[in-house]
Amino acid sequence: MQDTFKHKGLRKQLVETLKNKGITDVAVLNAIGEIKRHLFMDSSFLDHAYQDKAFPIAADQTISQPYTVAFQTELMEIRKGDKVLEIGTGSGYQTAVLCHLGAKVYSIERQKELWRKTSTFLPKLGYRAKKLIFGDGYKGLVEEAPFKSIIVTAGAPFVPKPLLAQLEIGGRLVIPVGDNVQVMTLFVRKGVMEFDKTELGEFRFVPLLEDKN
Ligand code: SAH
Repeated sequence: MQDTFKHKGLRKQLVETLKNKGITDVAVLNAIGEIKRHLFMDSSFLDHAYQDKAFPIAADQTISQPYTVAFQTELMEIRKGDKVLEIGTGSGYQTAVLCHLGAKVYSIERQKELWRKTSTFLPKLGYRAKKLIFGDGYKGLVEEAPFKSIIVTAGAPFVPKPLLAQLEIGGRLVIPVGDNVQVMTLFVRKGVMEFDKTELGEFRFVPLLEDKN
């Protein structure tokens, strides 16, 4: 699992690109500057690892674009020790960013192949999520709720009610909502039944699918 001067240099450039695109959170930029994204991709894609683009991983899924990862993470406003839930573990790159920020991470993946692969891979890099779960993210993780923040990394046709219900008061849900194109949406829980909703522009994700596979 090599990390060459070339990789380090490309990561620095990627961080500059993200700054130019409007990412300002220093902790998030540091995480992206340090996490070896090329190790999360198949070897044939090594040269692409530090372009600001999504790429295919196993099981017809993608590793999210770095800008999208940074944008969503920034919206979560992570503080060290926050209990957070991720829906769509995929390659584990976003999970690694959350771990790097000191969050206690629970992450759910519905594709068994990816769940297996990422469950063995992440600890090898030193990223220890609290729990990686093979399951259906539409249901959230009621036994560990409430969460300080929840991130959905696949396009949700609608906002799953359990995810809103599993936020603590003051907690934040960052979710791309829509079918072909998704609108990044932030919900902040203001009270038991009260949520502030903000829409933050269009993105494209692979779909959040029903049930596990
Ligand atoms: N965070 C990932 C992004 C992966 S793409 C990364 O950084 O690589 C979205 C992921 O969501 C895919 O792995 C897909 O299998 C998963 N997914 C789709 N529907 C899901 C569901 N209902 N529950 C959990 N995971 C789901």
